[in-house]
Amino acid sequence: MQMILLCFRVKYLLEIIFFSKKNLTFAPQKLKREVKKVAFYTLGCKLNYSETSTIARQFEQKGYQKVDFTETPDIFIINTCSVTENADKKCKKIVKEARAISPNAYVAIIGCYAQLKPKEISEIEGVDAVLGAAEKFRLIELLDGFVRPPQAQVFASNIEQATNFHHSFSYGDRTRTFLKVQDGCNYNCSFCTIPLARGESRSDTLENILAKAKEVAQTGEVKEIVLTGVNTGDYGIINGKRVHRFIDLIRALDEVEGIERFRISSIEPNLLTDEIIAFVAQSKKFVPHFHIPLQSGNNKILRLMYRRYQKELYADRIRQIKTLMPHCCIGVDVIVGFPSETNEDFLETYNFLNELDISYLHVFTYSERANTDALKIKEIVPHKVRNERSKMLHILSDKKRRFFYEQNIGKIATVLFENDVENGRMHGFTQNYIRVSAKYDPLLINEIKTVLLTNIDTNGFMEVEEVVESNFPNRIISNSFTVA
Ligand code: SF4
Repeated sequence: MQMILLCFRVKYLLEIIFFSKKNLTFAPQKLKREVKKVAFYTLGCKLNYSETSTIARQFEQKGYQKVDFTETPDIFIINTCSVTENADKKCKKIVKEARAISPNAYVAIIGCYAQLKPKEISEIEGVDAVLGAAEKFRLIELLDGFVRPPQAQVFASNIEQATNFHHSFSYGDRTRTFLKVQDGCNYNCSFCTIPLARGESRSDTLENILAKAKEVAQTGEVKEIVLTGVNTGDYGIINGKRVHRFIDLIRALDEVEGIERFRISSIEPNLLTDEIIAFVAQSKKFVPHFHIPLQSGNNKILRLMYRRYQKELYADRIRQIKTLMPHCCIGVDVIVGFPSETNEDFLETYNFLNELDISYLHVFTYSERANTDALKIKEIVPHKVRNERSKMLHILSDKKRRFFYEQNIGKIATVLFENDVENGRMHGFTQNYIRVSAKYDPLLINEIKTVLLTNIDTNGFMEVEEVVESNFPNRIISNSFTVA
């Protein structure tokens, strides 16, 4: 009997040793091999955000774990922008930060800057791969295994080969979803590298976009979709042929159940037709907010920029919008210091903007870009002058925004509250893009609430006196709760 018991004890001890050894030696390695951590960094526009979000989902579907940049990832994906000032310096800085966090991680660079300067980027210390516009969505397939090569690999074909439309939408990172409906641009403005970085204008089919919008709606978590593209108003070119018009798209989306707001991110003035304005003015879901690039209020400069309109058309679009939607928010892109812009030309732009009934400006200081026609214009505006003009327009923008906010005090509007908290306050946007500040309440996050706009706080946010429950229509801004 003693002997039998001893045998059992020895067997038991051997099992413990065997299993603990197995755990110590095999299990952690297996875990490490199976679940690689991947982090993303996005520079630039809404389109880049929607594409990063889509690539992140591809990784998750393949079993990778998405983590924050600082959580020692095994792989870093950096999505770059060519419009960003000092794109090369920013790219280098982020690669350096990534290397400091995870010295042995795999670092891949994608995005517009990667398409424009693949060789330069591949020479940045610490970069393992560069992928162009036609390759970025095949990242996992091309780099599978993510084993660091001795030298950076470049996968970037000519931009003419970026002809496929790859649908994308952002999800989970912000309150709103950016839904990509269009990519590329055929306009070739003389200052712009985007057509070189993203290729020709192409769009998703109406059916696909509706399916994606419904997919987003079915999550039950998204209240607002922002339509995103390079030249969004040019929506509808598929395989080189115009199949749809932008108005077809917004009419169809207006019927999607489960999404309370649609916002048009940006639209060229020559593409913003009376039909589109009239539709938005009576739509159930499209909010009264347009962002319309102007770039210059001087017709000579507009011609040199190869823009497809003159200032008179722009002013007419603003009048049309404001006639139908007096409460509509209108944002304007403007470039200062374009070659040959004289003081008089700039003042003409300044006065033009000053007189227009617009709500805010996005001011860009002109900077020289390789392979653009603007480089052929020899009358360069000194950097000091460019900066002075930029300052003047920033001040004008603050005044415009303030005036627009003041016009809305006392009005009733709806706010989509965001997931942020700062000094006990949270924020959100009204349908006409007024940034609202309210006392933090976690129950308000991602909720649309009806509010009374009361006054502007010291940070320039609109305060709301009370949050009231009501079935107030989502897109109306009114002086009272009684809406005809
Ligand atoms: S419309 Fe002009 S500025 Fe806008 S993306 Fe196209 S080329 Fe660039």
